[in-house]
Order: sequence, then C-alpha cells, then structure tokens
Amino acid sequence: MRSITKFDLQYAHRFYKFQGEAQYLHGHTGVLTIEVEDTIEPGVNMVFPCNEIQKVAWNVLKNFDHALVLREDDPLLPAILSVYEKQGIKDGAPSNKMKGEAFHTELAVAYPDARLVVTKETMTVEGMIKIVYDLLKDKLNIARITFTSGVNAATQEYTPTKSVDRCPLCGVALRDGVCPKCGYKKH
Ligand SMILES: [Zn+2]
Ligand SMILES: [Zn+2]
Repeated sequence: MRSITKFDLQYAHRFYKFQGEAQYLHGHTGVLTIEVEDTIEPGVNMVFPCNEIQKVAWNVLKNFDHALVLREDDPLLPAILSVYEKQGIKDGAPSNKMKGEAFHTELAVAYPDARLVVTKETMTVEGMIKIVYDLLKDKLNIARITFTSGVNAATQEYTPTKSVDRCPLCGVALRDGVCPKCGYKKH
C-alpha cells in the first residue's frame, strides 16, 4: 500500500537557451506529490504517517520554496548574486528564517541563505523529479514522484526494494531498533 503526501513549492526559474517564453525568468506554484510504499505497520494500521513524510521531505524541499532555481551555466546567476551581495542578503537576512538543510548532490546545490538552488540540468518538471528522488531515496521508500508546474506535469514510478522497520505505536521509522519519537524499543 502507499501513503501519499503533497507539497506546494513557490519558485522562480527559467529554461536558459530554450526557444520559447520559458527562457524568460518567471515563477510557479509547483505541486510535488511523493508516494511512499511499504507494508502496513499493524500497530498503527498505516504505511507511514503522512506528517512524518512531510517532515523528512520538507527539510530539503524548503530549499525550493520562495527560491530561485537556476542552471549552473546561466549568466543570470552571477548577476543575481552580485545584486544580493550589494544588498547584503546573499549570506542571509534576519527575515530569511524558513531555511532548508543545505545539500550538494550531483544534480543540484542548495544555498539556503540566498534562497537559491543551482542545478546541473534545466529545472523542468522532469528535472525536478530527478533531483527530488536523488535527495530523498535513502530516507523514504519512494514508489512514485509527480510534479506539476503550470501546464507541465511529469511522473516517475520507482520500485522500492526494502521495507522500513516502523514503530507500532506511532508509525515513524525506527533508528537502530528504537523509536526516535516515543522511545519504543524493538525486542
Ligand atoms: Zn516555468
Ligand atoms: Zn514510536
């Protein structure tokens, strides 16, 4: 069975060198759906509590919310950084609180202080799915990711290969046989 969680992400981007309107900087509310597959944990009668999926995923996804996403070779990147620098907000600002955990993968690098994500490939809906899977595949048993942004949408199925040991009292993943939330110990 699957537990399904949705996220709204508000971001700006552009498709650098794309022959169409999308080569101009513009914004979206993107909707990301993550489906997590596993057995049903009988104690809680759930695959995984959706608020836990939210917590785990949002930690990294926050980086894409109210953020600018640019490809690494986009000349807008140094231009924007220079404006942020002059304005004194490149390395953070007191009002910039909702920051995600910085990450650096093959496909993307997040700079939470500047609310900027630099990608290797153009951030299309397909590109976003690749980035998100790469960031979360070791943390969640992902069976499908769907991303919708404006008229564009894409979806990708994955085959989860493992089952996660979960707490029979609150459903969260056990860490070394112990529930990090309620302290339950697996015997
Ligand atoms: Zn767009
Ligand atoms: Zn527990």
